[in-house]
Amino acid sequence: MSFESLGLCSKLLRAIADEGYESPTPIQAEAIPAVLAGHDLLASAQTGTGKTASFTLPILQRLSQVNTARDRRIRALVLTPTRELAAQVEASIKTYGKYMPLRIASIYGGTRMGPQIARLRKGVDVLVATPGRLLDHLGQGTADLSSVDTLVLDEADRMLDMGFIHDIRKIIEHTSSDRQTLLFSATFSRQIRKLADDLLDSPKVIEVARTNTVAENVTQVVHPVDRHRKRELLSHMIGSKNWGRVLVFTRTKHGANRLAEQLQSDGLSSDTIHGNKSQGARARALDSFKRGKVRVLVATDVAARGLDIDELPHVVNFDLPNVAEDYVHRIGRTGRAGNEGDAVSLVCVDEHYLLRNIERLLKRNIPSTVIPGYEPDPNAEPQPIPGAKRPSNRRGGASRSYSRGGQNRRSGGRNQGRSSGGPRNGKSFTAPVVKKGAGSSAAKPSRKRA
Ligand code: AMP
Repeated sequence: MSFESLGLCSKLLRAIADEGYESPTPIQAEAIPAVLAGHDLLASAQTGTGKTASFTLPILQRLSQVNTARDRRIRALVLTPTRELAAQVEASIKTYGKYMPLRIASIYGGTRMGPQIARLRKGVDVLVATPGRLLDHLGQGTADLSSVDTLVLDEADRMLDMGFIHDIRKIIEHTSSDRQTLLFSATFSRQIRKLADDLLDSPKVIEVARTNTVAENVTQVVHPVDRHRKRELLSHMIGSKNWGRVLVFTRTKHGANRLAEQLQSDGLSSDTIHGNKSQGARARALDSFKRGKVRVLVATDVAARGLDIDELPHVVNFDLPNVAEDYVHRIGRTGRAGNEGDAVSLVCVDEHYLLRNIERLLKRNIPSTVIPGYEPDPNAEPQPIPGAKRPSNRRGGASRSYSRGGQNRRSGGRNQGRSSGGPRNGKSFTAPVVKKGAGSSAAKPSRKRA
C-alpha cells in the first residue's frame, strides 16, 4: 500500500515524501480512506503508530478542495488533553500542510488570551485546542465553531481521565450536528463507548493495535535498587553508558524538581517539564532537550503526554507510575517510528506491587537485573506511596528474588532483546510494529494529575 493509492493530492504527497515516510502505517491505511469517505471514526491506536497523520492527512485533503482563501472559518477542530499534545499536533499539521495555503493555529491555557484572540480574528482553517481554553474563547465570543466540518477528539480517554467530559460536551454544542467526528482513544472503556454512542454516527471502528501493548522494538528492564540510592544509580548509568539524551519520569512535580537539581549538581545538565511550570518554561525546556542543550529531561506523566522527540533512545522510570497504563504511555515516548528504544525502571521495595500491576497489564514479566554495587537491602521495609492504592491483603515486600548482575530467575530469559524494529532512518514502519493481543486486567488505582 502506498500513500499515492490512498488518493492524496500532490501537495500532501510531497510533504509526506519530505518526511521520509515510505508507506502508510496500519492506522493510516485504515483511517485515511474512511475519513475521506466521510465516515465518523472510533479508532484505537497506540501512541507512536502514526495516528496524527491518520486524521490530519484526510482533513487536509478535503480542505484542499475548499477555497479557504475566500472564506476563513474554522473547518476542522482537534481537541487534545494537554498543551504539549496540542502544540505537537499543530506542528504535525503544519508539517503535512506546508505546501497548502492554510492557516493552522493552536490555543491552550498557560499563555495569554490576547495573542490567541488576534490569531482567531485573522482567520483559522484548522484549530487545535485544549478544552478549557477553547471554552473560555467560546464564552467570550472570540471563537466560532459553527463551520466546523470535522471534529477530532485526540486521546479521548485521557481527556475523560482529566475530567474534561463536560467541557467537551459544551464545546460540541457549538458545532453543527452534521459534522464528521473522529474519536481516537488508547482504550475503549465503557465511558469511551458511551461517549462514542452519543457523539458518533454509525462510526467505522478501527483497532489496529490492542490497547496496553508496548512497541516490540523497546527493550524493557527493571533494576531493583534501594529507594535512597536511585538518584546515584541513575547518574551512574547516564555517565557510564554515556547516554546523550534521556527522558526520566517521576511521580510528582516536587520529585521532578528535586531530581533535576540533584542531577545538575552531579554534572548532568537537566531540566523539568511538569504542570507547575508556565507554558513558556515547558516549551523552553523541551526545546533545549530536543536541541541537545539539556541531557536529561525529568517529566511527570500528564506533562509528557504527546511529546514526540526524534531519536529518544532512553526512557527511565525513576518512580513507577501509580497507574499501570501510564507505564505504557511513558515508554511509548521511545521506540517511535520504528527506531529502537530502551526503557529502564528503577524499582525499590515500595513499588513491587506497582510492578506486579504493570506486568499483569502487559501479560509478561519484565526482565530484572541488579546493577553490581547497587544491590537492594533484602530486609528493607516497604513504605506507602502517596496516591497509590495498595492491595489490601498483600504487603509490597520482598516477594521478588533477584540474581546479582544477572536476570531475575522468574523472568527466565523471556522477552529479552528486541524482537523487531525498523530501520533507524528511512522512517518505514515494519508491519507489526506493535504487539497485539495484550489486554488490561490490572487494578486501577486513583490517578493524580501532574
Ligand atoms: P504519532 O503516533 O502520530 O505520534 O506518530 C509517531 C511518529 O511516527 C511521528 O514521529 C511521525 O513523524 C512518525 N510517522 C507517522 N507516519 C509515519 C509513516 N507513515 N512512516 C514513518 N513514520 C511515520
